[in-house]
Amino acid sequence: MSPQSPQSPRTHVLVLGGTTEARELAASLAARPGVRVTTSLAGRVARPREQAGEVRTGGFGGAEGLADWLRAHAVAAVVDATHPFAAGITAHAARAAAATGVPAVVLRRPGWRPRPGDDWHPVDSLAAAAGLVPELGRRVFLTTGRLGLAAFAHLTAPHFLVRSVEPPEPPLPPHTEVLLARGPFTVDGEEALLREHRIDVLVTKDSGGAATAAKLVAARNLALPVVVVRRPPLPEGVTAVPDVEAALAHLDRALG
Ligand code: NAP
Repeated sequence: MSPQSPQSPRTHVLVLGGTTEARELAASLAARPGVRVTTSLAGRVARPREQAGEVRTGGFGGAEGLADWLRAHAVAAVVDATHPFAAGITAHAARAAAATGVPAVVLRRPGWRPRPGDDWHPVDSLAAAAGLVPELGRRVFLTTGRLGLAAFAHLTAPHFLVRSVEPPEPPLPPHTEVLLARGPFTVDGEEALLREHRIDVLVTKDSGGAATAAKLVAARNLALPVVVVRRPPLPEGVTAVPDVEAALAHLDRALG
């Protein structure tokens, strides 16, 4: 992406956001002369963090709506920097890019890997996680996001400590305590939380990244089992990069 004169139109990059990496990428792109960056947010969080460049909020209306938006706003490239579990928007972005010919790349942070001392129980879905929980413990720290709680709502015996950024909506399990908090979290803080609430099993999605990894270290230190929900697969044929630097390099190659 070479700098352009003030008269020439700026190269418009759409970042599908909602993650730390999306904010970092938008900041890097906004600092480049000749680049216009728009970050798209779903609008799930009432007060999103500060964001460089332009921001638009709300769904596009499926893959077709997104394709229309790309054409109408003369988008030169799309970076899908959404959360690894936001499979719907990722599928739509892949289809919209294919339909319009707009180059696209997925910025997907690497998943977490178990270390010696970990007691991980990988599963493919929240429903499978809910099926396993009663075998592993009675006091559950649930960090799978407020939108996935319905999968656990039928579990009447365990006590759940649910941590989310925004208040969760019903249906919830009957014995639920809600903790509103936004990362990053520290290992000491997570250990103290697990002890204070006498947690005996942790449930998490394999979100990856540093901001919420401390709970895994804390669980290892306290020898607690962890139910880890695996990521949904990426759509076929998409190009994925692991970090902001690689996404910028990819854009440089794609846009010349
Ligand atoms: P999803 O299931 O993949 O998306 C559902 C619908 O929400 C999409 O079809 C799209 O609506 C709209 N949408 C999602 N992300 C959007 C974006 N960045 N800009 C505009 N519209 C968007 O997504 P989700 O799992 O509900 O996640 C929503 C947002 O929260 C994502 O941006 C994601 O990065 C962020 N987030 C998700 C998680 C998680 O665990 N899933 C965790 C942290 C942050 P239309 O079809 O109308 O376009």
